[in-house]
Amino acid sequence: MKNPLLEYIVNKQKAINKHLLFRKIEVEIVDGFNIGDSLEKIESSIPEYFFNGVDKIVIGQFRDKDHNRSFYKDGIIYVSINNQEDVMRDISHELSHFLFDKYSIFEDVLISEEFMGKRRRLFDILLYAGYNPPKDLFARSDYNKEFDDYLYETVGYQKLTSHIIGLFPDPYSVTSLEEYVSTCFEFFFIKDRDYIKKICPATYKVFNHLIGKNGKLYFVLRT
Ligand SMILES: [Zn+2]
Repeated sequence: MKNPLLEYIVNKQKAINKHLLFRKIEVEIVDGFNIGDSLEKIESSIPEYFFNGVDKIVIGQFRDKDHNRSFYKDGIIYVSINNQEDVMRDISHELSHFLFDKYSIFEDVLISEEFMGKRRRLFDILLYAGYNPPKDLFARSDYNKEFDDYLYETVGYQKLTSHIIGLFPDPYSVTSLEEYVSTCFEFFFIKDRDYIKKICPATYKVFNHLIGKNGKLYFVLRT
C-alpha cells in the first residue's frame, strides 16, 4: 500500500496505544510494539522547542509513495516499527525534515560547503576505484531520483559504505544536502555525537549553536 493515510487507517483498526511526548504531543503506537523508555530518552536528548508545530507522531507500519518506511507529512511524523534505537533515530531524522520545512536554519553556507566538499572527495574516490561517477549529479545538492538510484543500485550501499568511512555518516546521507543534515541530526541527538563532531565539524557546530542559549533565538521561520 503506497498511500500512508490508507495504511494508517488499516493500522487504526488494530489497537492503538496512546502516549504523550513532552506532555503535549500525541504519540500513537500500534499494539504489540514495546516503546520502552524511548520517549523519555528523546525528551532528555532533544530540546522540546524543536517539536513546536509537530502535531502528532505515529508509530506503525508505513510506506509513502517513494517506499520510505518513515517520513514527515503535514505536521505528522510517521515511523515504522523497528528496534527501539532505530525508532528513536527515525523520529529524530524525520523531525529534522520537519525543521527543514519550517525554518531556514540549515541553509548555512558552512554546511553546504562541507557537504559539497565531501561530494567532491567521494567523486574522486569512486573514480579512483574504477567507477564512472556522473559529475553533473554529484554537483547537485538537492534530492534527485537518478542520483539516489546511482548510489543504491549502481554502486550499491554495501560497497558505498566502505568508500565513505570518515566522510559521510551513512550511505543515504550522500543522497542530498537535506538527507545529509537529517542523518547528522539523528547521529548528533541519538546515535553518536562524537562521530559527527569528528567527521562533520561544520554541521556539528550549527547543531551546537541551535541547542545553546535556549536555542529558540536561532530559529528563523520561513516566510
Ligand atoms: Zn530523510
